[in-house]
Amino acid sequence: MSYYPTNAGFHYPSPNLPAGVDLFGSVVQKAHARGIRVVGRYDFSKTSKAVFDAHPEWFFRQANGEPVLYNGLYVVCINGDYYRKQAMKILTEGLEKYEVDGLFFNAFGNQSRDYSGREFGLCHCDSCQRKFRALYHREIPEKPDDDYRRFMFVSSREVAASIGELIHSKRPKAGYFNYIQESTDGIMSESNTAVERPLPLWPYSASDNVNRARNSEPGKMAVNLNMQFVDFWWRFATVPRQEIALRMWENVANGGALTFEVNGTLDLQDRQALETAKPIFRWIAANEQYYAREETAAKVLLLGASSKTGHTYSQNSYRGLFRLLSEEHVPFAVSDNMDWLGKRKFDLVIASDWAPRELEQYVAAGGHVLIASPQAPEFPVASVVRTSKDVKGYFRVRDHAQLPSLKDTDLLMTNGPFTEVKTDGKPLVTLVPPSLIGPPELVHVDMKDTDTPGLVMMKHGAGEVAWFPWDLAGLYYRESLPAHAALFKDVMDRLNPHRQLLTDAHPLVQMTWMKQNGRQLLHLINMSGHSETGYFPPVPMSNIRVRLEGSFANAKSLRSPAHLPVKVTGGYTELTLPQLTDYELVVVN
Ligand SMILES: [Zn+2]
Repeated sequence: MSYYPTNAGFHYPSPNLPAGVDLFGSVVQKAHARGIRVVGRYDFSKTSKAVFDAHPEWFFRQANGEPVLYNGLYVVCINGDYYRKQAMKILTEGLEKYEVDGLFFNAFGNQSRDYSGREFGLCHCDSCQRKFRALYHREIPEKPDDDYRRFMFVSSREVAASIGELIHSKRPKAGYFNYIQESTDGIMSESNTAVERPLPLWPYSASDNVNRARNSEPGKMAVNLNMQFVDFWWRFATVPRQEIALRMWENVANGGALTFEVNGTLDLQDRQALETAKPIFRWIAANEQYYAREETAAKVLLLGASSKTGHTYSQNSYRGLFRLLSEEHVPFAVSDNMDWLGKRKFDLVIASDWAPRELEQYVAAGGHVLIASPQAPEFPVASVVRTSKDVKGYFRVRDHAQLPSLKDTDLLMTNGPFTEVKTDGKPLVTLVPPSLIGPPELVHVDMKDTDTPGLVMMKHGAGEVAWFPWDLAGLYYRESLPAHAALFKDVMDRLNPHRQLLTDAHPLVQMTWMKQNGRQLLHLINMSGHSETGYFPPVPMSNIRVRLEGSFANAKSLRSPAHLPVKVTGGYTELTLPQLTDYELVVVN
């Protein structure tokens, strides 16, 4: 529904507004008078019965031929002419009428479940059936398979491209935003909650979304929405104040936009989130020169995986790696693609399930790759004997001199898939297969060692690969065992002995190293207030020592304003941050 009078056809003003009122027009006028930009929001995924009655062929059809209704609105299909033709007319009217600074599209493409969580399957409208048959020479499946996912991906990107062309032709300066990466000017995402989402919470959500967006598509801005509400049922109840604050700092520490989401006006029924956001917005506004056009300075790359590659990955393993790097204070960039190859230099690339064949070229040219996954990489590292689905065993540390962080540990546990490989040379850790676990009198009486490697190190060309053929990172995500972290850290440091940043900061201090206009920006976020499902005020920390690679002449902290003395030794610049409250930005020149 429109928040302005419309003549576009099959578009209707909200019945909850007084007739003839141009709410959107007055918002644009009043905001622009105050130097505030306005991005309009459209959602073409559902519309009214009048449209359905006139053009039933534009709408989503379940397998049984029935349309899908939600609170009186009919669900539209991405392959029908509502999206493909009528939406363009509606947008043309809006773009010609209003000087918008951008447009954003919600719920883009075909969903298969509604706001209440009801599943209604895949669309079987005539357009979908015709198009799917022509492309894949078969009928639409009952459940989404690879062909269908590709079909939906292409369908939504076709419409996304047409909308992009329209916006750019009508309002060349306006931005185009969507939750997809293709054809858009910015990459949108959300840090949100859902009451039935499995625990644990992911307190790195905003950093993850923004880091991934900025480094997968470096030419685009990342806008990660900070959703203040708890879940759809409770749009007026806010999440904890410190969760709002943490997301805000994470957004800007990774080079994204500062965001805060409210439904409706700022006249809220629960004002805690808004009152938390206000002083942060004011502080960033006062220091905004440091937050525009930041780029990562990280020299370590963590590979995600994207819908573009069609690869699905284990979220737990990816998040385990994310945590391991963050807790070790290793500055890292996340990319969902290999577009960086040959353009940006990284000292080390880290992968979980997705280790694409292009990495071979990177290694041959002197690159270093660390892979933690029972799934074999797409390029030869070691010959695979077999993959077992579930190994509840151990790995024995064979060489403590090479793995100094494991001085108090001889056995590390494993649980889950394991790939047995054949290699030459002596592995640093070897498999101890499952043995008797009970009763206590018989525990592990039959335990035996093998020569089966739990880690493969392979030199290739000028570079080197380390492969853990088991789910080290997924185990770390679940169990947080220091032994797994120690093994990861030692192998990472063997591959890439020269760390970019060294510090004695607490593991729950999240650090990012960004650069901007020739200066270095070190962001520190104090996450110590997070425990289980609670977000509390962070515990203040003091005298954090930091060594940054490079020779710099001066440094200052902005949140707790101070000039920080620097000392340059051995290729590093040393400084001490006297205090860290919730967040700090250290500017180094
Ligand atoms: Zn359809």
